[in-house]
Amino acid sequence: MGRVYNFSAGPAVLPEEVLKEAADEMLDYKGTGMSVMEMSHRSKAFDTIIKDAEKDIRELMNIPDNYKVLFLQGGASQQFAAVPMNLMKNRKAAYIITGQWAKKAYQEAQKYGEAIAVASSADKTFSYIPDCSDLDIPEDADYVYICENNTIYGTKFKELPNTKGKDLVADVSSCFLSEPVDVTKYGVIYGGVQKNIGPAGVVIVIVREDLIRDDVLEGTPTMLKWKTQADADSLYNTPPCYGIYICGKVFKWIKKMGGLEAMKAHNEKKAKILYDFLDQSKLFKGTVEPKDRSLMNVPFVTGNEELDKKFVAEAKAAGFENLKGHRTVGGMRASIYNAMPIEGVEKLVEFMKKFEAENS
Ligand SMILES: *Cc1c(COP(=O)(O)O)cnc(C)c1O
Repeated sequence: MGRVYNFSAGPAVLPEEVLKEAADEMLDYKGTGMSVMEMSHRSKAFDTIIKDAEKDIRELMNIPDNYKVLFLQGGASQQFAAVPMNLMKNRKAAYIITGQWAKKAYQEAQKYGEAIAVASSADKTFSYIPDCSDLDIPEDADYVYICENNTIYGTKFKELPNTKGKDLVADVSSCFLSEPVDVTKYGVIYGGVQKNIGPAGVVIVIVREDLIRDDVLEGTPTMLKWKTQADADSLYNTPPCYGIYICGKVFKWIKKMGGLEAMKAHNEKKAKILYDFLDQSKLFKGTVEPKDRSLMNVPFVTGNEELDKKFVAEAKAAGFENLKGHRTVGGMRASIYNAMPIEGVEKLVEFMKKFEAENS
């Protein structure tokens, strides 16, 4: 069997070119006589891998010199705790609740201080992004927190919230490197890489230097203190070496594709094909407010659970994998990250048209 069109929300599709290159280098990485999995994280070869990866992500995102880039373990979920531990000087922070990942981060922060939900879209099953232009943000809040792209519900902040001068912290797991960003608007940007950049096991944290402090909350584990990791250039202990190596290859692939402007154009084109179809379909419907639609995760339903199931099963048989919606929301979801080719979306829409004709 050949490769399928993989619409998984994560771990997700990676560029085929990158996988082939990694396969070629599996047994003997550049004349070292070993795989990247087998080499010391203190070796010259790995030093070049991690330094190049950092250089390339800095170039792609235009990351200013006063921000550190950390390659860590523990996934995005571990940062749900690391964020308050490192930043909650006043033990107070404002959270915007736009889905399950934001809610989990908010609940975790409550263990360390007062996490205040300043806005939420829970009233309509997180199908929109609340107006964040004039929120009631406490004077002494240490930061404002968002989940920028909501993987499960398929919404994205098209405009960042007005934080009233507080530092913005964003979980960008499912929109990492999908379009250009202005890093200076954030205090911290972080994301698990398994949605858009690489294999699970790596989380990238981009943090402004003045937020890397010694006076973290008492009891913060050494490993979760950003300063430990920043001082050691992400090599305090053994980092997820192989994952970082693949991330580095994906950065080079994105650069070759034309960088983040080109990624954005490519992603807009793909998403438009699917949303245009959903907007005129008599059977399938998108589930979120059109103005807040994500370019990465596209949830949709038929309105009939049995028919949804039938669609997912028939799609799978036709080579379209992982279209089932998140277990908590049902329906379908097509995740169309950077590495999903345009033909994947075109063929999916063709298949949906055929299914619609046969089932109406
Ligand atoms: C997948 C996801 C997470 C969880 O990532 P882990 O690496 O599994 O901890 C957190 N936030 C968002 C937005 C996600 O999409």
